[in-house]
Amino acid sequence: MQEELILLKLGELVLKGLNRHTFEERLQNNIRRRLRPFGKFDVTSKQSTVYIAPLTPESDLDAAFEACKRIFGIVALSKAHPCAKDKDAITEAAKTYLHDQLSAAHTFKVESKRADKRFPMTSIQLSQWVGGELDDTFPNLTPDVHTPELTVHVEVREKAAYVHGNPEPGAGGLPVGVNGVGVSLLSGGIDSPVSSYMMAKRGLALDLVHFFSPPYTSDQAKEKVIELARLLTPYTGRVILHIVPFTEIQEEIRKNCPEDYFTLIMRRFMMRIAGRVGERIGAGCLVTGECLGQVASQTMEALGSTEDVCDLPVFRPLIGMDKEEIVAVSRRIGAFETSILPYEDCCTVFTPRHPKTHPKVEEVRAAESALAVTELVERALAGEEKLKLSW
Ligand code: ATP
Ligand code: MG
Repeated sequence: MQEELILLKLGELVLKGLNRHTFEERLQNNIRRRLRPFGKFDVTSKQSTVYIAPLTPESDLDAAFEACKRIFGIVALSKAHPCAKDKDAITEAAKTYLHDQLSAAHTFKVESKRADKRFPMTSIQLSQWVGGELDDTFPNLTPDVHTPELTVHVEVREKAAYVHGNPEPGAGGLPVGVNGVGVSLLSGGIDSPVSSYMMAKRGLALDLVHFFSPPYTSDQAKEKVIELARLLTPYTGRVILHIVPFTEIQEEIRKNCPEDYFTLIMRRFMMRIAGRVGERIGAGCLVTGECLGQVASQTMEALGSTEDVCDLPVFRPLIGMDKEEIVAVSRRIGAFETSILPYEDCCTVFTPRHPKTHPKVEEVRAAESALAVTELVERALAGEEKLKLSW
């Protein structure tokens, strides 16, 4: 029998609303792909639990466990020890496998689950038996059924019984891909890596689009965005980063449009180009890191005037969040330190002195009427560079 394996618990509630089979298949595929660098593993799933067992001694279970913490669709994960479906074997497994945790804790309880109803004891009887034995063996332990430091979990399942300690929280959400594909606009700031993360968490597979404006923006600014995209991949899985040159569009706007509308028009071009990328890849939405009232270009009217050019729905998961809340997520996912590196974004090039904060859509349309919109979009797309980033 295996020495140790990983048990992953799926989000139970969300399974009701979705096709459970699709959910589990997608999750298993995501896990298999994610674990490839760490060796060979058998990944199977039964009764809302995914089992990951190493197939070779070289397979790195600890690294696999760490990687699984960032895979969406998993609510909790544990390393577990399999043993025979027998009360003494289970007790012995708990004593040895959880020895260090049992020695360190002050209070504990045993929680048993019996998926195999042929097992001769009820869950309660099994918990009492194992609990009694552990209580005798570890004098430091006092039973506490309400708020124990350590819960010893015993799961009697089809193939074996499994023993594990307190589970660790998973990344939650839905497996990336179950909700289709979206195009996320990624700048070098704090917000858009967080919005990308949040939509990936809801099961969207993402392509990322970044606009850069050499020579106004530097190579370092571009490298920073590539690095941010890389930092997201443990969550998002494979992504393609589309890097689109934006200099000509910005210069044309500056030459031909009223200054107060610069940012709004520029944002409309971003949405148009992202929409074109979306069409090509069969995306169902665009994603931005916009947040109501955060800057002049994020008032209701400004958001409305940029959305004016979009055929796809625009998802803005940060719309109702405070900056501190966004920063907290940014830190948690490990993007913050990179996001705050001081390289300019193309948005900060040619910023108007008095940006229009409550524009009317017709005014914005009129303000950009001097531009050859279609040609500019085509030329920008012709200069697109694609980077494949994988796990
Ligand atoms: P962020 O912190 O994500 O840069 P922000 O608060 O600075 O956002 P804006 O600069 O107005 O806001 O940008 C709003 C959104 O537009 C961003 O969250 C992002 O989705 C998109 N965006 C802005 N600049 C770029 C860019 N250079 N490339 C791709 N998308 C961009
Ligand atoms: Mg920005």
